[in-house]
Amino acid sequence: MPPMQSSKVSRWDQHGREHTVHVSRSGMQRALVCETCGWRRGTQFLPWLKAEEHLVEAHQADVDPTAGSVT
Ligand SMILES: [Zn+2]
Repeated sequence: MPPMQSSKVSRWDQHGREHTVHVSRSGMQRALVCETCGWRRGTQFLPWLKAEEHLVEAHQADVDPTAGSVT
């Protein structure tokens, strides 16, 4: 079952710093808030994809910390 209630997306940048975008429900929308830079965005669809896009574009953070255990 996919983690539909997942509340954050974390990625590491190439310096090993963690960047986190929090995802919260706001009526029909999801509200995204970046912990690192304060970026905010509301979206109705694919909030985790939007969060990943921000992490890559703004912070060059594209390393999924949860992917390390899978080889
Ligand atoms: Zn940010």
